[in-house]
Amino acid sequence: MPEDRKTPQLDDLEKGPWPSFVTEMKRAAEKNPAAGDLLGLLEKSYEDNTGHWKHGGIVGVRGYGGGVIGRYTDMPEEFPHLKEFHTMRLNQPSGWFYTTDSLREICDIWEKHGSGLTNFHGSTGDIILLGTKTAELQPTFDEYSDAGYDLGGSGSDLRSPSCCVGPARCEHACYDTLDMCYDITNEFQDELHRPMWPYKFKIKMSGCANDCVSAVARADCSVIGTWRDTIIIDQEQVKAYAESGLDIQREVCFKCPTQALEYNAETKELTVIPEDCSRCMHCINMMPKAIQTGKEKGATILLGGKSTIVKSAFLSWVIVPFMKMEPPYTEFKDLINRIWDWWDENGKTRERLGELIYRVGMGTFLREVGLPPVPQMVFRPRANPYVFWQEEEINK
Ligand code: SF4
Ligand code: SF4
Repeated sequence: MPEDRKTPQLDDLEKGPWPSFVTEMKRAAEKNPAAGDLLGLLEKSYEDNTGHWKHGGIVGVRGYGGGVIGRYTDMPEEFPHLKEFHTMRLNQPSGWFYTTDSLREICDIWEKHGSGLTNFHGSTGDIILLGTKTAELQPTFDEYSDAGYDLGGSGSDLRSPSCCVGPARCEHACYDTLDMCYDITNEFQDELHRPMWPYKFKIKMSGCANDCVSAVARADCSVIGTWRDTIIIDQEQVKAYAESGLDIQREVCFKCPTQALEYNAETKELTVIPEDCSRCMHCINMMPKAIQTGKEKGATILLGGKSTIVKSAFLSWVIVPFMKMEPPYTEFKDLINRIWDWWDENGKTRERLGELIYRVGMGTFLREVGLPPVPQMVFRPRANPYVFWQEEEINK
């Protein structure tokens, strides 16, 4: 960074006990002038109260339509190293497991071709490599490709599928999120690399309803682990929790959203009304040694989660309450292909799947992709169902 460049507002962000991205950018600026210019541009944005990036120009690598996002500053004279400052996405491994050697390799290649600045990870889940020139894109990709890495999705394609850490470290996982993520990433390579749809499509997998990848709020398709039978309660462990001072009635039973639990304070026994349990995970989170998920495991499929674009932010809807989730995931793949065909035919430009369903109605969507209506799809219990009977169905 030039000696005379002052960044008082950024310097302020280095104060306090936490690590600061400004400190890391200053370290990168010692090796790379683009990182120094980026500090200057950010300070300027804070002063002007506006961003100084512009859209324009399609950039990419051979054979791929996605994976690179063109970035240019609108102040190239003042910040010449940001004249081209493109972002590359690398597809992350399932559950974000790396060896230190692979992290060093990723960073070494990036320091050679780009700014050295990274973002682990972007909200799609990919490794984000921030800032390189157009001429460096192909050599960067070639080197990563030779080392065994691939680009992630960007634009109107399938974004890199992502999953929670699942069975690798978590006893709550109701299916192998890591395996499924890896499997569908390989299955849908065309959809990932060649933008062909009205807009982006995200698939995220969580092993249980704790939803550690926030799929329900962010993914067009969420695969959330669940079970079909009943939670398993170990009464000895329930007693141990009670004796350790946990107020089971107040902290567990009263907070069960469907009031499906009953606790006998005298015998210190906990029972569940199976048909009332909505499998929310609350009691299991509170008493993991005493309560476990059921034995018949699989996943619930939900659609339509997204942030604000055409319509406001949506949480997703349940469309399949329970599906077995085992390799080779044929039932899931068949369903997602039918959904994509319908969305591709009917969606307007930049209309996410949830917005299309909202526009044409859940009933139409279900009929066209061949899914049966189920009670979980009602908008609000006992009111305003999405699904209306057709005349021919009433007269049967
Ligand atoms: Fe564990 Fe569930 Fe979180 Fe996945 S979503 S890491 S299975 S708690
Ligand atoms: Fe209640 Fe949730 Fe426990 Fe089911 S999983 S019994 S809904 S707290």
